[in-house]
Amino acid sequence: MLQQTQVKTVIPYFNNFIKRYKNLKSLSQGKERDILKMWEGLGYYRRARNLLLTVKILVKEHNSQLPKTLEEIKKLPGIGNYTGNALLGLVHNKPSVAIDGNVKRVFSRNLNKEEKIIDFEQLVKVNKKNLFTLNRNADFVEALMEFGALICKPKEPKCNVCCLNKTCKYYKSSKKITTYKKKMIKIKNYNIFCYINRNKQIALTKNNQIGFLKNFNMPFIQEGKNISGYENWKFLKNYKNSISNLKLNINLYYKFSNKIPATYNWYSLDRNKEFIPSFTKKIFRQISTLF
Ligand code: SF4
Repeated sequence: MLQQTQVKTVIPYFNNFIKRYKNLKSLSQGKERDILKMWEGLGYYRRARNLLLTVKILVKEHNSQLPKTLEEIKKLPGIGNYTGNALLGLVHNKPSVAIDGNVKRVFSRNLNKEEKIIDFEQLVKVNKKNLFTLNRNADFVEALMEFGALICKPKEPKCNVCCLNKTCKYYKSSKKITTYKKKMIKIKNYNIFCYINRNKQIALTKNNQIGFLKNFNMPFIQEGKNISGYENWKFLKNYKNSISNLKLNINLYYKFSNKIPATYNWYSLDRNKEFIPSFTKKIFRQISTLF
């Protein structure tokens, strides 16, 4: 849940989740639609789908235990080097490091070398003896990530209070490497056209051409600012939405109609039974203000 998502956002979701699914077995018997419903609003729904697939495999094929090698762990859905190493350390207390942006920055500053010229996996391998001196590898994995987030921060690292400042080359050097880059933000304009009817229903379709929404049930969407051919649709609202480093500038239009294209289905705006992505929910809320 924490991937690309802040801790404060995750806490209520996590608490609800572990209240309902108390162990691997109960989660492995869960239905995807129920799990997605509990995940609703957190985004990145592939995490939820992979979690369910992984738990089913663990229960069925591994006696509800996490495998003990990186190769085996990486065979599980959605698990790559980063999550695999984090799990090896956190669950099995193995000497491994989950190399994320924070950890890369810590290593790169300590050596005062640009990230792009460091082979981090090799660096960890070669320095295993120095890095894992205590048998507290689970704590070490977590501490290293926290250290990068709280002390050796992207901007204004707290070098004066840092326990590594006696050996850190970045701190000592008069020619410090650059470690902070501004995120490139992309702005995209979209027009969203919603058919609605007097029964407080909206027409939804799975067929739209927008890559990041292609699996969602969405009203008709058009990229760009041009609305030629749709001049008789009513403008409802302009609003912004952010997805990672993508900023969406959205103009929402609507039209009352009883006729809808064959690929559309009516959906009640008051219905809240199934999983609806938060982007779509936002549109529902805007459209509901018309009734
Ligand atoms: S001394 Fe500064 S730059 Fe070096 S590891 Fe500590 S916080 Fe990071």
